[in-house]
Amino acid sequence: MKPSSEMRDTDSGSLGSESPATKSGVDQERIARAVREILLAIGEDPDREGLCETPARVGRMYAELFGGLHQDPRRHLRKFFTETCDEVVLVRDISFNSMCEHHMLPFMGTAHVAYLPGERVIGLSKLARVVEEVARRPQVQERMTEEIANLLVEELHAKGVAVIVEAVHTCMTIRGVRKPGSVCVTSAMKGSFRNKASTRAELMTLIYGNRR
Ligand SMILES: [Zn+2]
Repeated sequence: MKPSSEMRDTDSGSLGSESPATKSGVDQERIARAVREILLAIGEDPDREGLCETPARVGRMYAELFGGLHQDPRRHLRKFFTETCDEVVLVRDISFNSMCEHHMLPFMGTAHVAYLPGERVIGLSKLARVVEEVARRPQVQERMTEEIANLLVEELHAKGVAVIVEAVHTCMTIRGVRKPGSVCVTSAMKGSFRNKASTRAELMTLIYGNRR
C-alpha cells in the first residue's frame, strides 16, 4: 500500500488547503477538481445543471472503484484452518470489475480460482474477496491474474494454485480497435497445476467440462 500523501501535492490549487483524504484513502475532493478540469478541457460547462454534481459524484465513484488500493488482501488468507485435503478446491465464475490502468476504462469479467491445499484451507468466500480487492485498483489483467496466484502461493503454502481470468475490456470494445465481444483470457499456473498435466486437465474439466 502506498500512502496517499506520496501522491500529494505539487499543484497549488486555488483552494489553498489540502483536501483531506477520506478514510478510504482516496482523495475525493482532488478527483472532483480534476474532473471539473476535464469537463472544461472537452469544452463543456461544468456549472450547467446536469454537470454541477458530476465532479463530486465521480470522486465518490473512484473512491469505490479504487478502494482496493488501500486494502491488503492478504488478511483474508490469514484466517485459514488446518485440514487435510488432497483434492482441488475451485471457485468458478467469480465476477469482478476492474479499471484498465492504460486508459482508465473498465474491464470486467470472471475469475476462476483454484488451489490444491497443503495443510491450509480457507473459507471459499475469501477467494472471492481477494479477487475483489485486487481488482479494485488500476490494473492490467495479466498482472491481476499473477497477483492473485502469488498471494495464494505465499499465504496458503498450497501444492498448486491456478487462476484463470476472462474479461471484456471496454478500451478494446468502445474505442481503438472496437472489437465488441472479444474476450481476453489470462492464466497463472503454479506448482502442481503447472507441473502435472493430469492435475491441470482435471481443473479444466471442472471449469469448462460441461459448458464448452
Ligand atoms: Zn486499456
